[in-house]
Amino acid sequence: MTMSYVAQIHSTFGDVEPRHILSLSGGKDSAALAIYLRDRIPQIEYIFHDTDKELPETYDYIARLEAILGKQIARTTPVDSFDHWLAVYRGMLPSNHRRWCTKMLKLKPFEAYVGDGPVINYVGLRADENRTGYISTKPNILAVYPFQDDGLVRADIIRILEDSGLGLPPYMDWGRSRSGCYFCFYQQKIEWVRLLEKHPDYFALALGYEEKAVQFGEQFFWCQSESLRDLAKPERVARIKSDWEKSQERKRSKRKALTLVETLGGLEVEDDSHLRDGCLVCSI
Ligand code: SF4
Repeated sequence: MTMSYVAQIHSTFGDVEPRHILSLSGGKDSAALAIYLRDRIPQIEYIFHDTDKELPETYDYIARLEAILGKQIARTTPVDSFDHWLAVYRGMLPSNHRRWCTKMLKLKPFEAYVGDGPVINYVGLRADENRTGYISTKPNILAVYPFQDDGLVRADIIRILEDSGLGLPPYMDWGRSRSGCYFCFYQQKIEWVRLLEKHPDYFALALGYEEKAVQFGEQFFWCQSESLRDLAKPERVARIKSDWEKSQERKRSKRKALTLVETLGGLEVEDDSHLRDGCLVCSI
């Protein structure tokens, strides 16, 4: 820990020894932070907010990370499921403006796990990003950002993951940029198309949620303006792919040459600027 943490911790908690907790999302940055802190903070507790709606690749990644850390990752699966809360919210699917899923499935279970004692919560925001997000604001929880404090950027994170043998999350192999629920509304349309092609069963489940929402008298879409049934039509899929190719071509022509590590890490596939306002607890 840097000196600034130590000063901050003492001014916040006095002499009480806080717990050290790192929340894993299934994403690359929190995984890299877990590895980065493993030997620096041996007493650290790792937790994974399992919504029970994650991709199979995420569960595999968490299991492999657990083996590399040599320590159990506690699962904070909420008592009440997504389906329970969906009924409570009268079929209103969550969205960027109605983010009850993060609150009920991740933040509340996190706060219940933490309790009321002092806690340092390690967050994997990098020094080369300026994301804001939705994290707990309980007064006994102090959020700290070791990668930002130590100046670690995306290339450093990839290096940590490669050196550990863990590598990048396997869903990135098929072009999904983020961790989180398979139906997450933060997906780009091209990611929905990839979900349809890679995991048609999960796509069908997401579509089922949209179509069940009608029972509550109103139609909600994961993509806001377009139903998944329309998005899955062959002509629409072809259009989304071609639009995406064109946008990538425009970006490539503007972009400076990638470093070798970025190229090896496959990061030319997506940028994650669309996640800037996403919930940190889900996507880091
Ligand atoms: S991953 Fe997306 S859908 Fe799942 S809890 Fe987070 S914001 Fe909600």
